[in-house]
Amino acid sequence: MFRRSIYKSPAQLRSMVEPGLITAAALDEVRTLVRPGITTGELDAAASRVITGRGAESNFQLVRGYRHTTCISVNDQVVHGIPGERVLQPGDIVSIDCGAQYQGWNGDSAITIVVPDAAQPELVARREELSRVTEGSMWAGIAAMATATHIGQLGDAIQTYIEAQGPSSVSGDAYGILREYVGHGIGRKMHEAPSVFNYRTPDAGAEIRPGLVLAIEPMVTAGGEATFVEDDDWTVTTVDGSDGSHWEHSIARHEAGIWVLTAADGGAAGLAPFGVVPVPIP
Ligand code: MG
Ligand code: MG
Repeated sequence: MFRRSIYKSPAQLRSMVEPGLITAAALDEVRTLVRPGITTGELDAAASRVITGRGAESNFQLVRGYRHTTCISVNDQVVHGIPGERVLQPGDIVSIDCGAQYQGWNGDSAITIVVPDAAQPELVARREELSRVTEGSMWAGIAAMATATHIGQLGDAIQTYIEAQGPSSVSGDAYGILREYVGHGIGRKMHEAPSVFNYRTPDAGAEIRPGLVLAIEPMVTAGGEATFVEDDDWTVTTVDGSDGSHWEHSIARHEAGIWVLTAADGGAAGLAPFGVVPVPIP
């Protein structure tokens, strides 16, 4: 049986730069709009305008049965929330996942934002800490990709980072890592082999070498790891009602190093604390 290699050529890696930057631009736009009173549907429309305005299409709409440009997950929703009429409230923790396909190549990225709320500083601090831990664990996994030999080392780096942060200094809660949802290869399709676990596994996993492009996307809760899918058949929500956060980037490993395709700076700022300097794709 023919299987497409999970390793891409230098020319193919270069083709993934533009869809990554378009994905980043869409999330940058959404980031500026998040505020109390805006609906998740309005944020979705803004992301759609950026993507189509740059001659790309939403790859989320290429997923069977999904008709939106983003997934927007609020509070106890961790991933796969459907944008619509929901109005954002002060203090909400909001994860926004988005992707663009451009000339047949894909980008995939997610951010978490806490809506400002001067009246609930403890709530905001707790949720910002959850987002910071989740984002940091993503960067730990990305940094590991610069030197790791196998994918299993990325999950180890992510879990190790999260364990070193918890329990929360604000709430005392330990952090949970979703087990049923994982990162993935990305290229001609948004979701490709191999899977990228956000936790330690007994298997070493696929070899990491030049040409590998991964979407690394830890999904972390401020409580338990158990989730259920809501009646809309999409939204993934925590069983214990704890808050969730989701961060994601698409990253290329190439001959000279790693480059974060969905960050305008290639990941320089996020990788700096880990002593890793991203290298543009040659
Ligand atoms: Mg995504
Ligand atoms: Mg993804």
